[in-house]
Formats: sequence, structure tokens, C-alpha cells
Amino acid sequence: MITASPAARITPDAPAADWRQLWREAVTDAGELLDLLGLQHLAGQLPPADAGFQLRVPRGFVARMRHGDPRDPLLLQVLPQLVELDEVPGFVTDAVGDMAAREARGVLHKYHGRALLIASGSCAINCRYCFRRHFPYGEEMAAAGQWKQALEHLRQDPSISELILSGGDPLALATTKLEELGRGLAELPQVIRLRIHSRLPVVLPERIDAAFTGWLGALPLQKVVVLHANHANELDASVDAACARLRATGATVLNQSVLLRGVNDDADALAELSERLFAAGVLPYYLHQLDRVQGAAHFEVDDHRALVLVEALRTHLPGYLVPRLVREVGGDASKRPL
Ligand SMILES: *Cc1c(COP(=O)(O)O)cnc(C)c1O
Ligand code: SF4
Repeated sequence: MITASPAARITPDAPAADWRQLWREAVTDAGELLDLLGLQHLAGQLPPADAGFQLRVPRGFVARMRHGDPRDPLLLQVLPQLVELDEVPGFVTDAVGDMAAREARGVLHKYHGRALLIASGSCAINCRYCFRRHFPYGEEMAAAGQWKQALEHLRQDPSISELILSGGDPLALATTKLEELGRGLAELPQVIRLRIHSRLPVVLPERIDAAFTGWLGALPLQKVVVLHANHANELDASVDAACARLRATGATVLNQSVLLRGVNDDADALAELSERLFAAGVLPYYLHQLDRVQGAAHFEVDDHRALVLVEALRTHLPGYLVPRLVREVGGDASKRPL
């Protein structure tokens, strides 16, 4: 008999709540969000409603925000602000050269051995700093038409050993849609690894349900799941449980963060995030310098301060808890270390 690993023994049962229902119930009205947090007095400072990139935040994530605190690091990631409307030189709509790296519908190929699929255009949360706010998702969904174009493209490139699902959020797709992809990948022997980049295990951990973990666990590939949390307060017991379920599938679970002014540009906050992630069984991977996307300039931290912060982390934490500080530069052959 095989002894269960510690991770398997503590794996909690899949959640009872239906994630699609929770998705639909997300807060999408900034006035309501301010009401929920006792911050009604800030309603006059909101920008006009932005149909293109509306506020969206699941209620479970709102519950992790501090009541009455306009500087709450989770709130600042989602609340539309008037400064977003400022035109700042150098902040553009396609900040990382995605259009130039497009090889087929929804397929981005920038780095050796790895192809990235824009699997879905949806997210459960709209992060104000995100490059996605300007991306033309309408034409660019790899999941459309049974993943046909993306799989066809992969078939023709034997150098691709790792497939990365990104978006938008790939876990916005129904599990049946992911199963469809899994069947297609079975015909591509060169692909040995599947990586999923998703913010859902953090912002809507109920998404990591039994159907999904059953699919992921049975997939005959190496699996990597890269979460996206920027602050320790984003992790609570429900996120711990989702991470445990992910790890029980055999997936390696990593986290990437974006360095954000006012949110996590503080050595103590970053150290606490690394410690908190590790407590959930997750290793820090990248700390990204902000993509210079129109509407996000107020989040930028300059490179010098970024380096000072990471140096402080290095002197306080074990090496494996220090994320790699990188910037994405269009045309480069990898993320660029700072
Ligand atoms: C970031 C990114 C990757 C992954 O890069 P890693 O350094 O392997 O994490 C792959 N493809 C594209 C297009 C990317 O933007
Ligand atoms: S792609 Fe990621 S960072 Fe961007 S809005 Fe969606 S969840 Fe947020």
C-alpha cells in the first residue's frame, strides 16, 4: 500500500458552492462596493462608469478587504480611479508586444519551447493594472472552435514542449472545454507540460472543484499552476484549501505578483506575502515590474526602488522565498531580469 502524502491527507473536500453562481454574483458596481466597505463618502471620486473595463470583484474577495480603509491593498487593485484617465507618455495599449508575437488565433509564441494560448477573454476579477484592459479578445480566443487553430499550429511546431494557458483567465472556461483541449493534446507527443496561469484559485477558490481537479489529476502531463496574488491578505483558509486541492493533483504550484505602488511596494508586505504563500504550499516565482499599460501609470514603482525592495527580501528570507524581479520587454527572448 502506498502511504498518502501529507498533502493528500489534509486535502479538504471540494467546495459545495457552484463557482459559476458565485461568478455571476460578483460585485460590478463601484458604488455598491464602497457601500459594502463603509466607504460611501468616496463615491463622488469615482470616474464615470467604464463599459470597456468595468469594476468586477467576487464577494469572497471583498470579504478579505478591511472595512472602512480606503487604502486597503485589495481594494486598490480593483477600484476604478480618476487618475486612470490621465494620459501618461509611454503608457500604451499593447505594452508587451503581444500583437507581434501572435502566430495563430489565440496563440502567442515568444519564448523557446513554450507557446501561450489566450484561452479565454474573461476574468472573475478586473485588476486595474492589467494589460488585458485593452486586449482585443473578440478575435483572439484559442478555445473557439474546439481549439482547432491552436492545436493545428502546435502540431506544426515540434519545438514546443510546454503549453501555457493564459488569458484572460483560462479557468473561466468550463471544465468540459478544458477536457476538449486535453484530448487534443493527447495527439501532440512533443507537449510534455501543461502550465495554467490563473488568478481564480485566489479570487474565486471555489473554481478548484472536484470536476476540475479530477481532470487535471488524470492528465498524463507534467502540470504547473501559476497563481496570481499580490498581497498576503488575498490568502485565507478558502485559498489554502484550493491550493491543497491543486497540489493533490500532482501540480507544482507557483505564484506571480505584480509590484504595485500603494499595494505591495513595501519590504514587509512582500516578505509576508512570500511567507503566506509558502504556508499554503506555494512558491513565489516572479515579481513583475508593471507593464506600461494606459491607465495604470499610478501603480508604477521605479526600477531603483524595486531593486532595493528585492534586496531587502533577499536579506530577510530564505532564497527560495525571494521571487525573481522581471520586466517583460516586447521582442526579448525571455522575461528580462532586473
Ligand atoms: C511570460 C510568458 C511565458 C512564460 O515565461 P516563463 O519565463 O517561462 O515563465 C511564455 N510565453 C509568453 C508569450 C509569455 O508572455
Ligand atoms: S488577466 Fe489576471 S491580472 Fe488581468 S484582469 Fe484578469 S485576473 Fe486580473
